[in-house]
Amino acid sequence: MHITNNANLPAAIVEAVTNDPYPHGRVGDITATSLIDAPRIRVLRRRHADELTEDAAERIWALLGQAVHTILERAEPSAVTERRLYAEVDGWQVSGQFDRAVLYPETGLLQDYKVTSAWAVVNGFKPEWGRQLNVLRWLALHNGYPVTRLQVVALLRDWSRGKAAQGGRYPQHQVAVLEVPVWAENVLEDYIRERVQLHQAAEQAQELPECTPEERWERPTTYAVMRKGRKSAIRVLEDPEAAAQRAEQEGGYVETRPGRAVRCEEYCPVRDFCDQARPGARAEEAA
Ligand code: SF4
Repeated sequence: MHITNNANLPAAIVEAVTNDPYPHGRVGDITATSLIDAPRIRVLRRRHADELTEDAAERIWALLGQAVHTILERAEPSAVTERRLYAEVDGWQVSGQFDRAVLYPETGLLQDYKVTSAWAVVNGFKPEWGRQLNVLRWLALHNGYPVTRLQVVALLRDWSRGKAAQGGRYPQHQVAVLEVPVWAENVLEDYIRERVQLHQAAEQAQELPECTPEERWERPTTYAVMRKGRKSAIRVLEDPEAAAQRAEQEGGYVETRPGRAVRCEEYCPVRDFCDQARPGARAEEAA
């Protein structure tokens, strides 16, 4: 991965990004983070490792997330301090980093710390956080730590006192603690095996498996009911007929807002090499 500095950021930041120590230690065949993510991304990352570039400006939130590790080192001497745990399934070694998670063996509590937006927790925890924590729990169980409770501790980087005062579901404090359901052990074992097999199959496949709409962070096409002289939409709907009906009632019109795959367009590290996102890209060339 080559780090660029298109935004001309101070050298200290660029060096901090370039000297990123993550991941710490051997990662085995697959990390917990990759396991729950798209097999296509993992394979393309490996095939194009020497060609990938990322701008330092795009790594700022990740840097702040890493600062949590330093905070936790100060905070909890009784918690498990191993950086990385390993376990094997179907011939592959799975590993998970615990430097932003705290495991309390006496109580069976595993907490994962995240730096995120206040809006990200308005509707509770994200599904991928549930998957990630349960995979970490699986690793803990296989290393002799009986985890019985999972929590996300969200540090809300953009929290606003004013918005909190307006009430509703907006978090009331700059830190939110969210309970995450613990999966039954048979469900967990099946999930891990299924994910390992998916990734193993992708490594051998002639054609890479496609990323799912969720993996691509797809947003659906929506239809905004508008009225002349008003800037904001009266309603935004996913059903074009319902939108047309409402527009007729309101004496307005419908504005189509095309859906898009946000990750493919802006965030995926392998988007230049992915023929699912960009037909004609060099995804298969190096196969
Ligand atoms: S660009 Fe989109 S489709 Fe391609 S690997 Fe990334 S997320 Fe998947």
